[in-house]
Amino acid sequence: MKVVTTPAEIQMLAGQYRSKGLIIGLVPTMGWFHEGHLSLMREARKKADKVIVSLFVNPMQFGPAEDLDSYPYDLDRDCKLAEEIGVDLLYAPAKGVMYPQKFATTVHVEGLTSGLCGESRPGHFDGVTTVVAKLFNQTLPHFAVFGEKDFQQLAVIRQMVADLDFPIEIIGHPIVREDSGLAMSSRNTYLKDNEMAAAHSLSKGIELAKTLVKNNRGISVQQLIERVSEDVTSHRKCDIDYIEIVDKNTLDPCKQVSVDSVLVMAVKINGRIRLIDNSILIAC
Ligand code: AMP
Repeated sequence: MKVVTTPAEIQMLAGQYRSKGLIIGLVPTMGWFHEGHLSLMREARKKADKVIVSLFVNPMQFGPAEDLDSYPYDLDRDCKLAEEIGVDLLYAPAKGVMYPQKFATTVHVEGLTSGLCGESRPGHFDGVTTVVAKLFNQTLPHFAVFGEKDFQQLAVIRQMVADLDFPIEIIGHPIVREDSGLAMSSRNTYLKDNEMAAAHSLSKGIELAKTLVKNNRGISVQQLIERVSEDVTSHRKCDIDYIEIVDKNTLDPCKQVSVDSVLVMAVKINGRIRLIDNSILIAC
């Protein structure tokens, strides 16, 4: 596996692959790989001749009071894990080459970015779409794989790709969970032993909601949100950022539960660790 650190070099290599007719698959990440990331890489490996994984802790998508400085990072560790999957290129640019001093462009998607994480993390999605647009132009992929863990992000990227005519297929990949149900996340490394029960309240809340829907198809959206919220806040270490039931395509709040309804949630544990999770409520 080759490690590349500059836009010029990755673009040149990607151009060479393309001129040979090779299919390029991209997996954008912020590193500190876990099984969730690795599953996206395996998915890309199945479909691509050349798999490129980007590793960039993107300052533009972090708010001033967020965890940019403490975000876990270990390039050697991640290189070993990516190499085991059979990744061809690991692209790990430095902040300065991604955002040189005179950088002045922002990619902004209207609408889908206004609620949920967009509301509690102002500017977050502008950072995401700007960096992903740059990564697309640098790595020239035919397709890119994103996790459904970041449900809103996936919807926003799909919108950007459609609006800006990127000739790139966007593939969504299901959430990978610990045996306990906890959605895997690089931020889980922040959790102390005495915070694990609170962290599990997200996936437990999702299971509760699914069971309630299964047993009572007529249950209202409001009742569901109330029951899940009660459950989550029974842990005193949990502060709800949002718990909502939204349409999987538009992200608009659902009036009633249907096959298109997704429960989405963000919860802060001990005021320090913001975790997100989501699930479709009715399995097809
Ligand atoms: P991150 O490094 O957290 O920015 O995530 C990089 C990519 O991995 C994003 O597309 C995420 O949605 C995806 N991802 C993160 N955690 C998981 C997970 N538990 N299961 C599936 N995909 C994930």
